Amino acid sequence: MSDPTFQSNFHICIIGGGVVGLAGGILLRRQGFKVTVLERDATLQTVMRVLQEIGVFEKMLAKSIVPFSIILKAYSTGQVLHRQDLQEPADKYGAPLLTLHRADLRQVLYDEAIAQGVAIRHGIKIDVAGVDLAHGVLKLADTSETIQADLFVGADGGESVVRAALIGHKPKAIPHGKIVHRILIQEQDIIARPHLKYLVEKPNIIVWLGPECEAVTYGLDGVFNVAFTWPWSKDPKDIFWSAQSVDLDDFRAKLTSWEPDLREILSLGTSCLRWMFFEPVADDESTPWVDDAGKFCIVGDAAHRGLPYLGQGAAAGIESVSTLAQLLGKARNQDQVHEGLGIYQRLRKERTGHVIRATLRTGEIWQMADGPLQEDRDRRFLHETPTVGYPNPLADPFFQEWLWGFDATKTANDAWDAQQKARNS
Ligand SMILES: Cc1cc2nc3c(=O)[nH]c(=O)nc-3n(C[C@H](O)[C@H](O)[C@H](O)COP(=O)(O)OP(=O)(O)OC[C@H]3O[C@@H](n4cnc5c(N)ncnc54)[C@H](O)[C@@H]3O)c2cc1C
Repeated sequence: MSDPTFQSNFHICIIGGGVVGLAGGILLRRQGFKVTVLERDATLQTVMRVLQEIGVFEKMLAKSIVPFSIILKAYSTGQVLHRQDLQEPADKYGAPLLTLHRADLRQVLYDEAIAQGVAIRHGIKIDVAGVDLAHGVLKLADTSETIQADLFVGADGGESVVRAALIGHKPKAIPHGKIVHRILIQEQDIIARPHLKYLVEKPNIIVWLGPECEAVTYGLDGVFNVAFTWPWSKDPKDIFWSAQSVDLDDFRAKLTSWEPDLREILSLGTSCLRWMFFEPVADDESTPWVDDAGKFCIVGDAAHRGLPYLGQGAAAGIESVSTLAQLLGKARNQDQVHEGLGIYQRLRKERTGHVIRATLRTGEIWQMADGPLQEDRDRRFLHETPTVGYPNPLADPFFQEWLWGFDATKTANDAWDAQQKARNS
């Protein structure tokens, strides 16, 4: 039976108010659903086309830097190996590549979600025992409250309890063998040094390709972000779960062979934090993202946590939740919700699996040990015109079109229509 008021009577509860949960709240609200977001934090402190559709793009742009290009450099000499202009892809795909604080993006999405009528409850932490698949409800341990909804969407990040409940155990965390150090520098301190001003005045994303490591720098609304991917033990006993403070002098002492400008920027930093990277898993059919009853599903890092070498984590998550919202918006009864969840799972496992594998490959290429392979990579950067298999995948015209030219809404619509047609034929 088809019910035109179906969405307005259907309550979706999103667990996790990160970037993906909030974007999902807005997108599902726009499809007419009643939406609640549960977030464990007490307060709330690239996919640009989707953000344009959500209507937050202009607000986000005001907080963002629009880099001119992505520059790949040799770590020790600073020689420019490849410069990728970003204006042409911005024109081609209809939106620029932006750099901005995740907290700023989250705030813009939060404000919009509230404006759209999404109910957001803070200080609600769900544990795995509270995800009651058998009864299709959430139980809060602290208050004994039971939360009812027609659908629960787990957007609770890389340590997702909804994922743990769906697969029946806590996902295994395998160290990737790398960590990231982040140092934030006030841009005014860089501008005060005339020979470094160029880094801020004409913003670019710069990646220094080092042996088993890399450094990425970009501007973030008044601060300059330096992120160093660095080797780390793969031994599970060396896992750390939350950000740790690092002695910046000790870290700088390891960089004596790096380009002087980068070292000078780091001399302006006052603190450094590090995060652990875990091996991503590209799920196959055996790992459910949706439960049998069609009452629970996962999106974002909860479903497909990757690594940041292509800057795609949040982007892939927003694409996923956009696909989910589009498909659910077509449903007119519970069976069609189930059907939409199945299509969502199939489409997004396939695409995010490719993104995860391409990201891993990019890390391997950009973080090659010094030697013949690295020399051959650098020769290709310097002398070849980007084509299939070019060592900068973002400049490989085929991969770039696939990555940046993707239309989540159209893909979801086409897949839905194809399934209806196949059933009716
Ligand atoms: C160093 C680094 C650099 C990155 N760089 C980029 C980049 O350049 N571009 C990019 O696109 N991505 C990047 N990413 C990845 C990106 O940050 C993530 O993919 C993205 O934040 C995932 O969003 P999410 O909403 O799925 O999860 P999260 O951001 O992890 O949000 C999950 C939310 O759920 C809440 N939550 C968790 N558990 C519970 C629970 N049990 N109960 C209730 N609430 C809960 C959390 O408090 C949080 O608010 C980077 C990641 C790292 C670590």
